Amino acid sequence: MSGSPIDGTVLVVNAGSSSLKYQVLDPVTEEVIADGLAERIGESTSRVKHWYRGSEAVSDEPLADHEAAIATVLELFKADGVDVADSGLSAVGHRVVHGGRTFFEPTLIDERVSSEIERISSLAPLHNPANLVGIEAVTALLPDVPAVAVFDTAFFHDLPDAAATYAMDAGVAERYAIRRYGFHGTSHEYVSRRAAQVLGRDWGELNQIVLHLGNGASMSAIAGGRPLDTTMGMTPLEGLVMGTRTGDVDAGIVFQLARVAGMSIDDIDTLFNKQSGLKGMCGENDFRALLERVEAGDEAAALAYRVYLHRLRRYIGAYMVQLGRVDTVVFTAGVGENAAPVRQDSLADLEMFGIEVDPERNAVRGDEPRVISTDASTVTVLVVPTNEELAIARSAVEVARAAR
Ligand code: AMP
Repeated sequence: MSGSPIDGTVLVVNAGSSSLKYQVLDPVTEEVIADGLAERIGESTSRVKHWYRGSEAVSDEPLADHEAAIATVLELFKADGVDVADSGLSAVGHRVVHGGRTFFEPTLIDERVSSEIERISSLAPLHNPANLVGIEAVTALLPDVPAVAVFDTAFFHDLPDAAATYAMDAGVAERYAIRRYGFHGTSHEYVSRRAAQVLGRDWGELNQIVLHLGNGASMSAIAGGRPLDTTMGMTPLEGLVMGTRTGDVDAGIVFQLARVAGMSIDDIDTLFNKQSGLKGMCGENDFRALLERVEAGDEAAALAYRVYLHRLRRYIGAYMVQLGRVDTVVFTAGVGENAAPVRQDSLADLEMFGIEVDPERNAVRGDEPRVISTDASTVTVLVVPTNEELAIARSAVEVARAAR
């Protein structure tokens, strides 16, 4: 086992309803040894794409379920000469979307923890059941490796009550665990800590606004390492305009669609989560393609872009007021890291608040954290690539070590 290329590394698993992303990485050197994606699990056209130390392998075997997907991944590792079950893997880290009111920190998975994740599933029906299936599949095939759940909600567990509470019947809210939980917490924490490092400052002394802008998108206001507010709520549907999700809407729309359009709750759920956002407004949720269409003068795309920016700026303003003093604004995830126009436009005309983006610095592309504000800007604007896998791997090893 010792000397194995994956000795001491962590397998990070992110299971979706019909997909499973994984990475094997060294939490200390940060080296990514393997990386892959199983898609269309449960369909006849399944595919696993697997990268191991720079070389790619593909399997088109149909995958009946997640366990079959993991079995295929382990076979692909065997073809690379690695027996994952007997190679000194330190831990498996599972991304779990909803920790409900129970889970505030990375947690070693046992039967009790699995049943609790299942119980919480009603809060995140699109995510937790899939996460759990991933946990069960990996545990069945790697029973001796400690498995750790890392919750997307954990970082926000002690949001101030004023930010966490919905203005509704208190008894109903309590009975059904209805409150604002926040998501993408692993990313918000990782990126805000990394921003402090990049600036050579103490995380605990910085006031930050973090914009995680990917296909799913959320923002947070973090004061001295403690989140004061975040845009996602009981589910990842609230807040910013996203690739396919509405973000904030008037709840009255639900009543209107049910009463007047005769839509079922499931229809509305699908409409709001999968057919809305940028895709709903202009048919396009890939931001690159959207920007090209805006550039080409497409009016539907231009309106979608304006709505997207309007929501972003609304929250930027709100979080500036909540924080009082802002030290950094940090952009991350697919859109935040790559779409220079979004960074420029979302912070345009804020010089009077000490925020000034430098167009040349903003145009620079790269994988490293970088400052994009001018030297005169009192708020430092940063691009910091997120790395949720690394954050999950670090947490998983820590918990596995402590449990030994
Ligand atoms: P994520 O969910 O973090 O993987 O982000 C996915 C989103 O990032 C998609 O909308 C992509 O179109 C967008 N994205 C990735 N690269 C670029 C780019 N170079 N310019 C604009 N958007 C990008």
